[in-house]
Amino acid sequence: MATARVDLEGNLVKPITICMIGAGGFIGSHLCEKLLAETPHVILAVDVYNDKIRHLLEPSGGMSPQWADRIQFHRLNIKNDSRLEGLIKMADLTINLAAICTPADYNTRPLDTIYSNFIDALPVVKYCSENGKRLIHFSTCEIYGKTIGSFLPKDSPLREDPAYYLLTEDESPCIFGSIEKQRWSYACAKQLIERLIYAEGSENGLEFTIVRPFNWIGPRMDFIPGIDGPSEGVPRVLACFSNNLLRREPLKLVDGGESQRTFVYIKDAIEAVVLMIENPARANGQIFNVGNPNNEVTVRQLAEMMTQVYSKVTGESPLDTPTIDISSKEFYGEGYDDSDKRIPDMTIINRQLGWNPKTPLWDLLESTLTYQHRTYAEAIKKAINKPVAS
Ligand code: NAD
Ligand code: UDP
Repeated sequence: MATARVDLEGNLVKPITICMIGAGGFIGSHLCEKLLAETPHVILAVDVYNDKIRHLLEPSGGMSPQWADRIQFHRLNIKNDSRLEGLIKMADLTINLAAICTPADYNTRPLDTIYSNFIDALPVVKYCSENGKRLIHFSTCEIYGKTIGSFLPKDSPLREDPAYYLLTEDESPCIFGSIEKQRWSYACAKQLIERLIYAEGSENGLEFTIVRPFNWIGPRMDFIPGIDGPSEGVPRVLACFSNNLLRREPLKLVDGGESQRTFVYIKDAIEAVVLMIENPARANGQIFNVGNPNNEVTVRQLAEMMTQVYSKVTGESPLDTPTIDISSKEFYGEGYDDSDKRIPDMTIINRQLGWNPKTPLWDLLESTLTYQHRTYAEAIKKAINKPVAS
């Protein structure tokens, strides 16, 4: 059993029940693992899938059997299931992770994207507010959209000034493209649900925390097309590049791979979420950037680093042409657009929770690509060697 825990004030943390919606996804699976291993809290895990947390649900799954009585899986779709309110009422805290959150869907399935990220989240907010329950809602760094600096001339020295690119929770504007650029359907839906939650807080006293993840990556993120997801599916960049490396194909750089991202290791980021869970007085009413400003690369640099790391992990030499350029129209279709640069301001999370990310990009890629290779290399080999039906 986990040892007694104290909050940042040194007070004992009482065990609570958490209704975690989207618990079967990438972030949810890591959060469940951490809560079961290190805290006494009970999880009501809600999702339509449970493959990524099966090892926690079955005592034979290799995890400690006494955990099984602290996690209960409820297979339900929050779009249309009357059991949702009952589960939120049973819990002290609700964490909402459920969403369509792969960019390939934003411009090709904008209606599903908007419904998933706004309409489907509405009852969750409403039930928390009406029943006086605390809510931690997962938003996204994408709600900042483009940086102010991206509108400056390419050679402007102001582009180097943080005032033109640093993304600050309570100051930076949200800058999206035109309506035809349906890429922004996700960001816009997330922005509106943030505004609604904020308004429920100010008008009705909802106790909320909003999390804006900045490219959290690690094992179990998304799927490998044709292995544990659809062959034609397009996951987020970590899984796209992993898939290319596993299949010994060149990595595809969308519009030259010039966009910049900061990547944070999932295990670092989860520690920030646990601090929010166990320090309500410091987390309520806050919006938190959670990212690693020290791990910034262009997508091209990410591709180069992943190629080197994968070669180290497998002992295989890289391809002669490790990357190829592809237009965003060809890769994502009409209506794609991109965030140019995402550096999180860490002032608020530092002040409120004393949290800092630890893992450098090379190290987190090494552990993640070791996992990808171990999990998928055999299956890929079989899939490649399978005779094509005539
Ligand atoms: P994910 O797709 O792995 O997890 C989402 C989970 O929600 C999935 O298991 C899915 O089955 C479930 N879900 C979706 N709709 C549902 C419904 N109607 N009913 C029940 N379950 C449903 O994604 P993730 O990376 O774990 O992201 C979790 C949250 O964090 C999302 O809200 C996402 O927008 C946000 N986020 C994540 C990142 C990141 O870096 N991973 C970045 C920005 C924002
Ligand atoms: N990208 C790429 N090749 C791929 C997949 C993604 O160049 O195979 C780019 C994409 O255009 C974006 C960045 O990688 O600039 C990050 O994409 P991701 O899907 O992870 O999501 P985002 O950070 O845009 O939310």
